[in-house]
Amino acid sequence: MIKTDAVVVGAGPVGLFVVHQLGIIGLKAEIIDNLDKIGGQCIELYPDKPIYDIPAIPECTGEGLTKNLLEQIKPFKPNFHLNERVEAVSQNKNEWKVETSKKKIFITPNIIIAGGVGSFEPRKFFVKNVEKFENNGVFYSVKNKNDFKNKKVCIFGGGDSALDWAIELSKISDVILVHRRNEFRGAEHSAEIVKKLEKEGKLKIKTPFQINSIEGEKKVNAITIKNEDGKIEKIKTDCVLGFFGLIMKLGPIAEWGLNLEKKTIPVNTENFQTNKEGIFAIGDICTYPGKLKLILSGFHEGALAARACFKIAKPNVAYRFEYTTTSKSIQERLGVKKGD
Ligand SMILES: Cc1cc2nc3c(=O)[nH]c(=O)nc-3n(C[C@H](O)[C@H](O)[C@H](O)COP(=O)(O)OP(=O)(O)OC[C@H]3O[C@@H](n4cnc5c(N)ncnc54)[C@H](O)[C@@H]3O)c2cc1C
Repeated sequence: MIKTDAVVVGAGPVGLFVVHQLGIIGLKAEIIDNLDKIGGQCIELYPDKPIYDIPAIPECTGEGLTKNLLEQIKPFKPNFHLNERVEAVSQNKNEWKVETSKKKIFITPNIIIAGGVGSFEPRKFFVKNVEKFENNGVFYSVKNKNDFKNKKVCIFGGGDSALDWAIELSKISDVILVHRRNEFRGAEHSAEIVKKLEKEGKLKIKTPFQINSIEGEKKVNAITIKNEDGKIEKIKTDCVLGFFGLIMKLGPIAEWGLNLEKKTIPVNTENFQTNKEGIFAIGDICTYPGKLKLILSGFHEGALAARACFKIAKPNVAYRFEYTTTSKSIQERLGVKKGD
């Protein structure tokens, strides 16, 4: 069980910045995200695209912004819990109990939901019994490439993830890349490398084929694939990897007893609290009259929510507004040395 001043649901840009706002006023936060990486939409949807409307940064990419936000919160040594979805939120005396998909439990007076458009989830194979093999032969991401070492691996998909992992895993395993079209969607350069590796006998390509069935008792031992003419081929394999992109689902947030409005959470604009005391919503997931789904709006929302969290986490301490430029206590928390 982890006790903390605030649990932040979502490690997108807004979730990251609120950790800073909590940190400078002396509050500790734990951040949970369903994805295996930090940065939310900026990293998942547009890491290389330029953003032009972050105040005082004329141009940066989604990846650059995420890196800078992480640098800015480094002094607070935040704990990230990635690959974990917040499943349940319930009252625990005067505090909140937060439970994740990995059965981790957090006790906190404040929850800040910075869940964007909900949790990103992989699009899955649509064949019988596939759930039975999930994480036991059927995967939608690679956490550690050595898990696939010296194995027969079938990779499905035609985008960048499928191509990149086919290239990478072909160095340590027997790879067959299967795609439902003859052309790949991913970067041209990667598609060329894949074709070159096939010519050199370092991997196999099967197009245009789709998965038809997964066979095995406790673990996967074979699959069948089918082409447009209905021709079926059986392939002996240990693992199946599917890279069909992500879908966004509001997911369990809808079950936490919060008021909802078109898949967003209404908040007041004084402190971005929801209809539950101690639960705040900021960034793309919140709604109020005039809401703009922009990163800069989320930063402002986080600044106000963090101050409200202080009052709940430390009811006996008076909150004092201070500038970072002149506050000694803020600078100490930031690790600023005298003379810096
Ligand atoms: C192509 C594109 C271009 C854009 N360009 C701009 C731009 O130029 N300027 C601008 O200001 N904005 C831009 N945006 C919008 C901007 O990216 C969003 O406003 C911003 O990402 C919202 O940040 P967030 O932190 O609220 O949510 P997100 O970035 O969506 O992050 C939310 C995170 O919460 C996680 N999550 C959700 N539910 C759970 C749960 N139950 N458990 C655990 N984790 C959960 C998700 O996995 C996700 O990582 C663009 C968006 C797109 C798609």
